[in-house]
Amino acid sequence: MCGIIGYIGLKKATPILINGLLRLEYRGYDSAGLSTIEPGGLSIMKDKGRVKNLYKLDGIDDLVGTIGIAHTRWATHGKPSKENSHPHLDNSNHFAVVHNGIIENYNELKDFLIDNGYTFYSQTDTEVIPNLIHYYYSKDSKNDSQRVLRAVQSACKSLKGSYAIQIISTYLPDNIIVAKKDSPLVIGKGTEENYISSDIPAILSFTNEFYFLDDFEIALIERNNIEFFDLNLSKIDKKVKNIDWNAGSADKNGYEDFMLKEIFEQPISVRETVGSRLTENENCCFDELNFNKEFLLNINKIYIVACGTAMHAGLSGKNAIEKLCKIPVTVDIASEFRYRDPIVDKNTLCIFISQSGETADTIAALKLSKSKNATTLAISNVVGSSITREADYSLYTHAGPEIAVASTKAYTSQVVLLELLAIYFAEILESYSFKELNNIKNEILALPSKIEATLKCSDDIKNFAKQIYQEKDVFFLGRGIDYNTALEGSLKLKEISYIHSEAYAAGELKHGPIALIENGITVVSVITDEQLVEKTISNIQEVITRGAHTLVITNKNLPTNNIDKVILIPDTYTLLSPILSIIPLQLLAYYISKEKGLDVDKPRNLAKSVTVE
Ligand code: GLU
Repeated sequence: MCGIIGYIGLKKATPILINGLLRLEYRGYDSAGLSTIEPGGLSIMKDKGRVKNLYKLDGIDDLVGTIGIAHTRWATHGKPSKENSHPHLDNSNHFAVVHNGIIENYNELKDFLIDNGYTFYSQTDTEVIPNLIHYYYSKDSKNDSQRVLRAVQSACKSLKGSYAIQIISTYLPDNIIVAKKDSPLVIGKGTEENYISSDIPAILSFTNEFYFLDDFEIALIERNNIEFFDLNLSKIDKKVKNIDWNAGSADKNGYEDFMLKEIFEQPISVRETVGSRLTENENCCFDELNFNKEFLLNINKIYIVACGTAMHAGLSGKNAIEKLCKIPVTVDIASEFRYRDPIVDKNTLCIFISQSGETADTIAALKLSKSKNATTLAISNVVGSSITREADYSLYTHAGPEIAVASTKAYTSQVVLLELLAIYFAEILESYSFKELNNIKNEILALPSKIEATLKCSDDIKNFAKQIYQEKDVFFLGRGIDYNTALEGSLKLKEISYIHSEAYAAGELKHGPIALIENGITVVSVITDEQLVEKTISNIQEVITRGAHTLVITNKNLPTNNIDKVILIPDTYTLLSPILSIIPLQLLAYYISKEKGLDVDKPRNLAKSVTVE
């Protein structure tokens, strides 16, 4: 959660910082602030509300500093207010800090600092950090160039919880210091300037060269030099990574919202995910994996662990792997998995999915699996992200930057990648008919054009959205693989339209939820599995009989009697159908949110990358 940005160079820092914050705003947006090193000391400009409010603050245009740090907040401790906004200063006004994460032992540290004469002005956990740095700085009798660095080191050693922090100090007027544990932070390398950010897209227009800070590392950043240290202040040799995303893909490109742009980008993102992994008449190829038959035969169980939308992608991965490879797959919610004692051993393959690669619960689940000797495989959209650095193997979805909080193109790319993985395993294991696998592969290659065709339903969906946007409850139904899509469609609607919705396996309806069906309620159903068409149709008739207003997404020619709206999408293999059938549901959530006049890209209470528990 939250976005942090930093600049050190020859230009005025403030416009660059605000610009960067605007690009990071999807990560948190209840307050914003910045601090620069000015001739007279540290400036602090902050307020609650959106980043654009910073432009209105008195004196913001007078700042001349070329070194600064900035923050857009997603409050965890203390309500959104000016006092609680970051940056936070220490009592002597010599250290300014922005922080992403949660300091779990802040009460203890606060008591310690109060006992040592410090005063607190906010309710945040963060405010202990600058004061702790000041405390260690003042206790250090050696007045050399590393004194601030040592104070930061000691402070970091005292912190429990998660943090990505940036520090500027009047005692070190040519540097920014950054440190991290369990929260993301990247450093963009420029010429005579460097950038710091919570993620890559925010600074992609300035550079393609990035350093990824690992947990328990500190970087001392100058305009034309960066030094990396571990927590004992031993130097680390870190390699710069080239990221080949283009800056344009982090802009709206004429679309009203990022979410709409990202929905319409799916033909391209899916093509990119497939990339060179699939070539006609050849075996599916993953250069990143060196799995052989013996290894796969030893795997007796697969866990797919993720949160939210990524977990829903995992459900379709389960369908594919179980069908094609005959290996049992359990899909688990990362926040549950990490606190259970899952039965995982050296013969378990654990797959972790996270768009950002920074999801705190998923990272913790990954670490747990490693400690139990499982083979771990990360699936992420962000090169060099934390889960990819932690896992034994990593696969990238290559969907390009996803900015809207509600995930769309990352989801379809995750599903495609899992389908490819299932085929890759099946080819090695020889567990499924090669002819059938070839047919599925050809269908995967046809997906981009079928997604294009599916997107043509946009106007129909928009009209349907106009009819139902004032609803209080919406139900989503599906059976088999369509239940996965129902879950994801329901989540999209909740996230961005704030309409209460529930997804049910259609067969479960009679076991309770049908009691909620009453005149005029909207029920959305997904039907793509040939074998289950009649069963689901019967369930739809049951809700129609009880007065429901119905929308059906299908690739079959259904008897349309009494269904209010049928959206016909292209036919494909049942295993692949979630990639197409989710698209009308993404559009439905989008248009309902628009009808309600909501901020589609930045829904309330949510943030893009959930880096806290
Ligand atoms: N825990 C800090 C706060 O509530 C930082 C939250 C964030 O990551 O934005 O201020």
